[in-house]
Amino acid sequence: MENRLTVYNTLTRKKELFVPIHEGRVGLYVCGPTVYGDAHLGHARPAITFDLLFRYLQHLGYKVRYVRNITDVGHLEHDADEGDDKIAKKARIEQLEPMEVVQHYLNSYHRDMALLNVLPPSIEPHASGHIIEQIEFVKRILDKGYAYVSNGSVYFDVEKYNQKYQYGKLSGRNIDEMLQTTRELDGQSEKKHTYDFALWKKAQPEHIMRWPSPWSDGFPGWHLECSTMGTKYLGEEFDIHGGGIDLTFPHHECEIAQSTAALGHESVHYWMHNNMITINGQKMGKSLGNFITLDQLFSGQHELLQQAYSPMTIRFFILQAQYRSTVDFSNEALQAAEKGLQRLSEGYSRLLKLQPSDSSSLDVKGLREKCETAMQDDLNSPIVIAHLFEALKAINTVYDGKGTLSADDLNELRDVFRLFVVDILGLQMENENASDANASAFKGAVDLLLSIRQEAKANKDWNTADRIRNDLAQLGFVIKDGKDHVEWSIK
Ligand code: ZN
Repeated sequence: MENRLTVYNTLTRKKELFVPIHEGRVGLYVCGPTVYGDAHLGHARPAITFDLLFRYLQHLGYKVRYVRNITDVGHLEHDADEGDDKIAKKARIEQLEPMEVVQHYLNSYHRDMALLNVLPPSIEPHASGHIIEQIEFVKRILDKGYAYVSNGSVYFDVEKYNQKYQYGKLSGRNIDEMLQTTRELDGQSEKKHTYDFALWKKAQPEHIMRWPSPWSDGFPGWHLECSTMGTKYLGEEFDIHGGGIDLTFPHHECEIAQSTAALGHESVHYWMHNNMITINGQKMGKSLGNFITLDQLFSGQHELLQQAYSPMTIRFFILQAQYRSTVDFSNEALQAAEKGLQRLSEGYSRLLKLQPSDSSSLDVKGLREKCETAMQDDLNSPIVIAHLFEALKAINTVYDGKGTLSADDLNELRDVFRLFVVDILGLQMENENASDANASAFKGAVDLLLSIRQEAKANKDWNTADRIRNDLAQLGFVIKDGKDHVEWSIK
């Protein structure tokens, strides 16, 4: 397949043809979670968006090095430079080691991501494991003259940087204006300017997460880890940097400034940002009472939820929107997604059961091409889903005996469904959980039991017939007796 993938580059504000730096290889960096609480809805969208990208790039034949970091130091409460470290605070309250807090929530994040069928990244570096590299990076910025030491801390000199480069280009902020209006407000601070941000922060005596450095015992600023680890694992120039749109300012703006200051050039070719999730039209926030963790969604244990929603329903729901549009969570919308996913799953399992005919009475050609075109248009997953649903109509027509498909058409349809539904959209279908061999042995065994039950019924051996039915029901099977055949599924 020829690569015609276009992606929307936040930096240039237009869709661009994706051309990797190195032929056949892609470097992808995505800002990962800060691990001081349970994973919530806000974590699901970037994870699924960039999982879709990761899967699609691999489908296009690229060898992808996907780096998704773990922020476990330097994420402060009020803003990037002030307040308690969120992880240290949690550790103090719960009387744990900070790394116990990190590990606990990281384990739960990984569990949730696995349930959402999000593939693990190639490298998952911790900020706390790269303190030496971060100190080296600060030294490079100091050497180039774009940072200054003040009272044991090191700050990035935004004004100086902005004289040569353009600070604010990603988020579209006019920094000249901001510099002028905020100039007078800064008398008390150890920073030269409000907009300067910390590269290294001297630790207060009570601060437990601290490391020695040439400037003070302290810790790195939050933005620094991504510049440092991106450079370390993907090189001084790499292809794609992703994250939630809320990270464009200050986090990604500061990353660009740091990398450009240290390296003398920009490092990222394409900046990609997923839009936000709202809940019943509101931004999600603890103070609004609409903060829903993934575990609560999966179990239905939240006062806003009318029921539990499966991880695949959440994944399908998120993929029903293109990643740059907002998504609003409501029970109605999730229930609609649940039904849609059920229809897709049912259609898929019917597709696997269809018998080929000599010729096709329905036109199912071109589905693959249409789905590829939609994906290549900035990962337009809702259009892919629409094409698949269009094809479901043909599948159901054949299933109902009102149309035919040739062996070639049937095989192509099965291939395309497996590729787009399972491999690229990453939706686990009921019949896809086991490997093919396991699944067919399993199906054979259940069919065998049901045929023994049919024989028992024919022999009026009601005890055996009931026992098979009841025991299967207890194991979670749903058995539907039709006129001349028995259908079964798993609850
Ligand atoms: Zn980051």
